[in-house]
Amino acid sequence: MKDKLAALLLILAILLSGCNAVEKATVSDAKDSEKPVVVATIFPIADLLKQIGGDKIEVITLLPAGASPHHFEITPKEAKIISRGKLLVSVGAGLDPWAERIAKGLAGQMAELVISDGLTLLPFKGKDHHDQNIPANKGDPHIWLDPIFVKEKVAPILAESLGDLWPQHQGAFQNNLLNLQEQLEELHQSFTQLAADFAERRFISFHSTWAYLGKRYDLSEVESVLEYPGEEPSAGWLAGLIKLAQREQLGIIFIEPQFNPKPAEILAQEIGGRVFILDPLGGENVDGRDDYFKLMNYNFSILQEALK
Ligand SMILES: [Zn+2]
Repeated sequence: MKDKLAALLLILAILLSGCNAVEKATVSDAKDSEKPVVVATIFPIADLLKQIGGDKIEVITLLPAGASPHHFEITPKEAKIISRGKLLVSVGAGLDPWAERIAKGLAGQMAELVISDGLTLLPFKGKDHHDQNIPANKGDPHIWLDPIFVKEKVAPILAESLGDLWPQHQGAFQNNLLNLQEQLEELHQSFTQLAADFAERRFISFHSTWAYLGKRYDLSEVESVLEYPGEEPSAGWLAGLIKLAQREQLGIIFIEPQFNPKPAEILAQEIGGRVFILDPLGGENVDGRDDYFKLMNYNFSILQEALK
């Protein structure tokens, strides 16, 4: 605990003293240097911000592609990235507490938006909270994985936040928001049609990720391979899972690229199940999943392949 605090203080010290140097270093090479920088913790949120902000802002993703927000700790590299930003956007509800901690340390120096604050969340089905340092379970943070939740809640919150900070671009943000909401509605309609014909509606997820998507399309995430999002499951947990899968005749297991697939492979072998890869995060350099819509279409195509 003491070590963590010391590390955080060190990061903040680096961040505060390094601020000007970072600005100078990026002014010459970045063509977007005139634009205000918005920092988002995870890629899907960054992409939504990009679509709403259009050419008025520059958006940077904090979490490197392939990393899990549940494991992540801020390094000086990310601290420097944050220091360029005028606005830090996190999901909250325990998904990305590392960003919230940094933002608190920077109070007054940059604006902060925690998307899930003020939203009614689904209960988090995982046995414990993503961040065990947070005592009360605020709910399930995986809110971006349901296009309608994004259309009705997340996207308007992002647009409002941008509009508050840069009122001169309010009109552009609102136009972009409407355009985005239309596309989200289309995405939802097309997946509703696909999902209506699924032969199987139940699956085992890798960690408790798909509750919003499941609720929207009548799919059921029965249980997760991981007992806790950030930890390898115990032998006892896996044994219980094998029994459950046999009793309920579950055969579809979805893993995620950000986690070690081994426990899911063991489970699949034991129950004669099949393993597919869903991706809740994508990334700028992840081929075929490098914007929100590509990412969601990828996931929908995997769901179709597995559940049809
Ligand atoms: Zn998660």
